[in-house]
Amino acid sequence: MITDVVQPATLPILSHWIDGHPVEVLPEATGPVFNPATGEVIGRVPRGGAPEVDRAVAAAAAAFPAWRDTSLIARSQLFFAFRELVWQHRREMAELITRDHGKTFPDALAEVTRGVETIEFACGLPVHLAGLNTPNVSTNVDAYTLRGPLGVTAAITPFNFPAMVPMWIYPIALACGNTIVWKPSSHTPGATQMQAELWKEAGLPDGVFNVVYGGREAVAAIVEHPGISAIQFVGSTPVGRYVYETGTRSGKRVGAYTAAKNAMIVLPDADMELTADAAVASGYGSAGERCMAQTLVIAVGDAGDRLRPLIEERIAKLTIGPGLEPGSDMGPIYSAEHRDSVIDWIDRGVAEGAELVADGRPFRHPQHPDGFFLGVTLFDRVTPEMEIYKEEIFGPVLGIVRAATFDEALGLVNGHTYANGTAIFTTDGGAARRFKLEVDVPMIGVNVPIPVPAGYLSFGGAKGSAFGDLAMRGEDGIRFFTQQKMVTERWPEPGRRAALSLVFPGNT
Ligand code: NAD
Repeated sequence: MITDVVQPATLPILSHWIDGHPVEVLPEATGPVFNPATGEVIGRVPRGGAPEVDRAVAAAAAAFPAWRDTSLIARSQLFFAFRELVWQHRREMAELITRDHGKTFPDALAEVTRGVETIEFACGLPVHLAGLNTPNVSTNVDAYTLRGPLGVTAAITPFNFPAMVPMWIYPIALACGNTIVWKPSSHTPGATQMQAELWKEAGLPDGVFNVVYGGREAVAAIVEHPGISAIQFVGSTPVGRYVYETGTRSGKRVGAYTAAKNAMIVLPDADMELTADAAVASGYGSAGERCMAQTLVIAVGDAGDRLRPLIEERIAKLTIGPGLEPGSDMGPIYSAEHRDSVIDWIDRGVAEGAELVADGRPFRHPQHPDGFFLGVTLFDRVTPEMEIYKEEIFGPVLGIVRAATFDEALGLVNGHTYANGTAIFTTDGGAARRFKLEVDVPMIGVNVPIPVPAGYLSFGGAKGSAFGDLAMRGEDGIRFFTQQKMVTERWPEPGRRAALSLVFPGNT
């Protein structure tokens, strides 16, 4: 039983970060932060709302003109400094992530490293912000494009990647000359606080980067705030839909990147040992709390019969334990409520008639009985009619689906409501090629189970996995966070002036 015991004298209370400074809050205006490996309350996080969002937007608006006018080279140098600081502190940041989230330390370290890739991309901002220039489109007329910032922007991010996902958003927003208000998840605040402090140390002007903690109220204040011009949201589909619909209604540019139910197709010619490693790593890494995890294995022909025992062998050898303990392959679920919801999904799968091959429900960690641990679950003979096929579970639950042919498997992937990532495992280049061309999912792996594109490329899903027209990061990220202006400019030759004409200007 989890009790929210408030011990303000001993527990660290985190602060909002506004205008370059921590904003203290009273203990009664905070909520608990848990260590999921022990079930203990380890800190308090502010519950912000409209007043804090107003204050952060005011600070960001005041900082905007000077930041917009800061030279690209000066801006870029701040990114280099920030990148160095994050790199130096990556182990501490990863430790905080493991403490709050539960994922293993090596996994948290990998998360920070993948986030740093996008900061490195942002270091090249003078190149990314370059426009097109076409001289002499008409006599004495030149045309070119400028990319300008939007103003105050916002990021709303989930619990599962407390460093990497925000690092996919704010470096691009800031590089483009915007200021930002970031509303992180309250479940995993340790790494958030550190990112704010490192920006300060890097020399970022006060007010350019602001953090407001909170839940529904803080998010409502952001999506309705007239001073915010663009929002990128990452999280669940219902909240993403709300943020997209409400934000765009008030004229904001919104990108919302949401839930997933990713499937990997396994053809009979696949290297089954490699495929089994991939399925287990993808399905159970980070306790299945990754939006790019392949949680369905669509096995074609006899692939299922050959793959299943290899997956079972690997499952039996997994070590489940606290993420900071060396040797742990999988940590706890991030919260007690979410662990219970994953258990409900497993109950549902059983009731729906899927074959329960491995059951994670009874697992208890012997040294940490109050930790939010769950074992790994494997279902076989999952079918498209089942809810466990249709919906995201976001826990360590992998389902094998049987398909007779490649076409049937491809049809299943293309018929799903969600479309974030997908993969094919095969040694047949022709089949892989057809898959890449015909699959309706934007992020594709070929013999790669978690096909998160490199940090300089864009990241984003389709269908129920994304709202908005542009992806995060990369080229799309730059387009999202800038307003392109098209300039048409005439400088007549000295002493020559065209005669007055009311004809629509032609390119002559
Ligand atoms: P979530 O939707 O609960 O929370 C996301 C953000 O919204 C948080 O900042 C949270 O405080 C806020 N929020 C939560 N409930 C709200 C409400 N009712 N009204 C307004 N704001 C609210 O998501 P989560 O549980 O933190 O993260 C897991 C989800 O994120 C999964 O669905 C996962 O697939 C998705 N995700 C998607 C991607 C992607 O790129 N597509 C990446 C990571 C995670």
